[in-house]
Amino acid sequence: MFQATFAGVKNLLIGMGVTFRNMLTKPVTIQYPEVKRVMPARYRGRHFLNRDEEGLERCVGCSLCSINCPVGCIHVVSAENDPDNPVSKGERYAEVYEINLLRCIYCGYCEEACPVDAVVLREHYELADYDRENYIMEKQDLLVYPEPNEFRVNILGNTERVNK
Ligand code: SF4
Ligand code: SF4
Repeated sequence: MFQATFAGVKNLLIGMGVTFRNMLTKPVTIQYPEVKRVMPARYRGRHFLNRDEEGLERCVGCSLCSINCPVGCIHVVSAENDPDNPVSKGERYAEVYEINLLRCIYCGYCEEACPVDAVVLREHYELADYDRENYIMEKQDLLVYPEPNEFRVNILGNTERVNK
């Protein structure tokens, strides 16, 4: 009887200790969407296509990302570059580049496979939409870093924080 009472009081105090400890810690809740969570730099969110230092598209239309995609959600059609007005530094560029974000599993294999660091998955996680058509990302969408986000891909292809 005494032992059971002692054990009960002990467990009660342990439980109260956990409550008290958490009362003093900073809450983890954030007021989304007014406050946005800063994702780790290596978080694999929405895809983007990088440009090089001269503003040319990095993508050379080699289709390695498409071949390595386990769910086949990247569609690339390449074309020859016009030497007088090149789109990329390579012989070819991606005339069509599309990613179906509804099929994507965000594994990052496309990013790993790309030999020129053209396609990247960045911190943007606000992907909800009412229209399925909006999940087919075309090249012009992928070359622009969308707002709102605290990060952007700079001209060197690195992630940097946008100064507010
Ligand atoms: S993240 Fe994975 S599933 Fe998505 S496009 Fe890249 S390779 Fe395909
Ligand atoms: S994104 Fe990279 S891997 Fe994909 S087609 Fe362009 S250059 Fe090739």
